Amino acid sequence: MASEALDDIAQIDTPAASKTKVAVEILGMHKWYGEFNVLRDINLRVMSGERIVIAGPSGSGKSTLIRCINRLETHQKGQIIVNDVELTNDLKRIDEVRREVGMVFQHFNLFPHLTILENCTLAPMWVRGIPKAKAEETAMHFLKRVKIPEQAKKYPGQLSGGQQQRAAIARSLCMNPKIMLFDEPTSALDPEMIKEVLDTMVTLAQEGMTMLCVTHEMGFAKQVADRVVFMDGGQIVEQNEPEAFFSNPRHPRTKEFLSQIL
Ligand code: ADP
Ligand code: MG
Repeated sequence: MASEALDDIAQIDTPAASKTKVAVEILGMHKWYGEFNVLRDINLRVMSGERIVIAGPSGSGKSTLIRCINRLETHQKGQIIVNDVELTNDLKRIDEVRREVGMVFQHFNLFPHLTILENCTLAPMWVRGIPKAKAEETAMHFLKRVKIPEQAKKYPGQLSGGQQQRAAIARSLCMNPKIMLFDEPTSALDPEMIKEVLDTMVTLAQEGMTMLCVTHEMGFAKQVADRVVFMDGGQIVEQNEPEAFFSNPRHPRTKEFLSQIL
């Protein structure tokens, strides 16, 4: 299909009810890995409080896109603006952005030699300079919220996968982020543990957190997403409200993807 036609579909805007502040603005953004143009002309605006689900086949650039938003990856063309800060090579501003953007990965990435409580207090104490007692109080608050306060003194290896992922979410929340990025947070989990992590994410969404979630959990998308963004071949091919996205996908590649996963 001609790229102009792709753009027409990709750029249809959907209203995010009463959300007026822009949290993330991506304009004409490209990224290359060497010669490989992994992200191509990405245009995406996320309003504060909006919940976005990013879907698409493996290798379509979903992880790369969200890693660009907290500059775990750099882009080479176009603009990415996060909470009014444009991402450039200015390290001070990158720190500013990273402080406001939490990230949860597929494989939890907890420090194995630290307890859950220590995992949660490390960055607040050493990056933010928060006193230990206060950092521990905050950590316990969030561990209660993700329903694992009794695991605080254990090491990651002593927890189930679902508990570890909830600990990773609590650890992010301890930094008081304004935006949360999730990269397939449930795809390494056994089925019985997926729900407990999704429930935690649903609660966060209901509390108004701005969220960008790469996930194949289409039930989650239907339940909480304001918008589903579908990627293929490094491009945003289509985006729409969940209801329209699932009932009336417009692009053939979206239709094909949905027929495989639903
Ligand atoms: P997704 O998360 O949608 O599965 P990724 O963003 O991980 O996709 O990857 C998009 C494409 O970029 C894939 O073709 C992948 O092989 C390639 N890629 C990912 N990371 C790198 C890297 N560090 N160097 C080179 N190519 C990469
Ligand atoms: Mg990925």
